[in-house]
Amino acid sequence: MKPRYPFLRLSDINRPIADELCAAAESVIRSGWFLNGPHTAAFEHGMAQICGTSHCVAVSNGLDAIRLSLRALIETGRLAPGDEVIVPANTYIASILPITDLGLRPVPVEPSETDFNLDWTKAEQSLTPRTRAVMAVHLYGTPCWDSGAASRMRERGISIIEDNAQSIGAACATPGLNGTHATGGLGDIAATSFYPTKNIGALGDAGAVTTSDAELADTVRALAHYGADRRYHNILTGYNNRMDEIQAAMLNVKLARLDETTRSRQAAAAAYADTLDNPAVIAPAEIKGATQVWHQYVVRIPGHGERDRFREWLAAEGVETDIHYATPPHLQPCYYPRLGTSYPLTERLASEIASLPVGAVTPDDARAIANIINRFK
Ligand SMILES: *Cc1c(COP(=O)(O)O)cnc(C)c1O
Repeated sequence: MKPRYPFLRLSDINRPIADELCAAAESVIRSGWFLNGPHTAAFEHGMAQICGTSHCVAVSNGLDAIRLSLRALIETGRLAPGDEVIVPANTYIASILPITDLGLRPVPVEPSETDFNLDWTKAEQSLTPRTRAVMAVHLYGTPCWDSGAASRMRERGISIIEDNAQSIGAACATPGLNGTHATGGLGDIAATSFYPTKNIGALGDAGAVTTSDAELADTVRALAHYGADRRYHNILTGYNNRMDEIQAAMLNVKLARLDETTRSRQAAAAAYADTLDNPAVIAPAEIKGATQVWHQYVVRIPGHGERDRFREWLAAEGVETDIHYATPPHLQPCYYPRLGTSYPLTERLASEIASLPVGAVTPDDARAIANIINRFK
């Protein structure tokens, strides 16, 4: 049976702008210019503006953006293989894969139960002489930042990398290291993903690195182009991590509507918050003064087995839900037991969370879904 309220249909997201996407694709096809062209340059300019940074490098995907950022910190002498990198234990595994890939040591830290993001107090308690970086993951569209903790870490020579995969357009109540408030511009360097289901999605894979540090930007740009700083002159052993010109063209169509996209998600989230009234279901926290962009609208249903019963009950009522994420990275077969064997809060949250539809949902739909949820017993 087709659900009355699907979790997310990408065709719903792209339908209203299909003519514009087709026109942009045709212009790339007819131009014969497929990499490092005018659409990529325009994308980098627009993305730097959104993040409040002086540089942006368009890259192949979000995971590569994280790997390039970490590798640039290594090449500029701020991080070395064997160093510890603090990460939230409840993040998506793609935050952690590049850390181990580069021979760095991930140190998972339990999140805050209220906003699902890194607990900065626990992060500070987890610092050791080997800690050289902290990854602030802006999970579910909520900025992850603590100005005080971030500046204390900077004083200790610790770099802050943002995983902004889920939070383009979000902003923090307090300023980042460079005085700007937008996610993607808070720390030393940031990675954004344009995976098709993200708030701004390419029609395939794409990502971006943003920074206001010229040395890091130049290093990332070289690394993404075989390590070359100019044609056939390789200063680093790099990768091929470019963004396709046709994806940049698709993203420029969508970035022009970022505010509209964000407002639609915020309106759905507000309708949920106003209507949800079931003591068995905990709504996500709204953070005072911050701009949350609601990549996911994650509720909690505590109690053994209750979350699964909730999801089955909702499915029977025609509401499709999802879980982000059911298995934390430390319990994945590729890592267990290498990241540590027990993160009780992360494990409990993984058993309690459910993501409601928020991507292409009108406020009326959100109210209707919330009213269904209010009948759950
Ligand atoms: C999607 C995502 C990534 C990876 O981005 P890709 O473009 O899929 O490689 C990394 N971190 C987080 C938190 C994500 O949600």
